Amino acid sequence: MGHYFIYKQQVFETTMKLVEVDLIRISAGNISMRLPDGNIAITPSGIPYDHMHPEDVVITDINGKKIEGKFNPSSEKALHYEIYRTNSEVSAVIHTHSRYAIAFSTVEMELPVICLELLFVGGPIPVADYQCPGTTEVGTGAAAFFDSRPDLKGLILKNHGMVAIGETLDAAYQNAYNLETGAEIYHIALQTGKKPAALTESQIKDIFAHYKKTK
Ligand SMILES: [Zn+2]
Repeated sequence: MGHYFIYKQQVFETTMKLVEVDLIRISAGNISMRLPDGNIAITPSGIPYDHMHPEDVVITDINGKKIEGKFNPSSEKALHYEIYRTNSEVSAVIHTHSRYAIAFSTVEMELPVICLELLFVGGPIPVADYQCPGTTEVGTGAAAFFDSRPDLKGLILKNHGMVAIGETLDAAYQNAYNLETGAEIYHIALQTGKKPAALTESQIKDIFAHYKKTK
């Protein structure tokens, strides 16, 4: 067992947590973390989650060159690397093809801050322009958003899915979960035919003041 195993295990465990809450299915979506030595641990390409083992997680350098692993890194690796290259504080990236995020992406509807879930991801959640999945352009588009909005921890990719970031794998997991849950809530609210109310500036200020106090 190499010295990378502990990180492979962590990426694997987060992957299984995402399967458990139905954010990723079969083999769609990919998860990565930036390691202390600057290399990246990323899920393998095309391995169904119910057949994946911790040792299948691939170690590459930040340019995608494989360092360790019997499989190839995710075919969408460029999305991860572009974000790591542009945003030095990001240490985990999660990309999902979760259904509510994709649904809103197809109609290019940004998600307003209607609940805490979307507030904590740094909403309103934008929809990045369409780029062919797997290309560097998907990554440069997403990375530019994160770079220009430091509080933004997740966004929607047009006709494709979503990407969430974090300083840790667990933070990225929570951001992915909150984004998809917020999208689902927004969808349910829209079914009433009425306009869902966004939290106001002063309500948001109160929420953050209260969280700081109780932390
Ligand atoms: Zn994708």
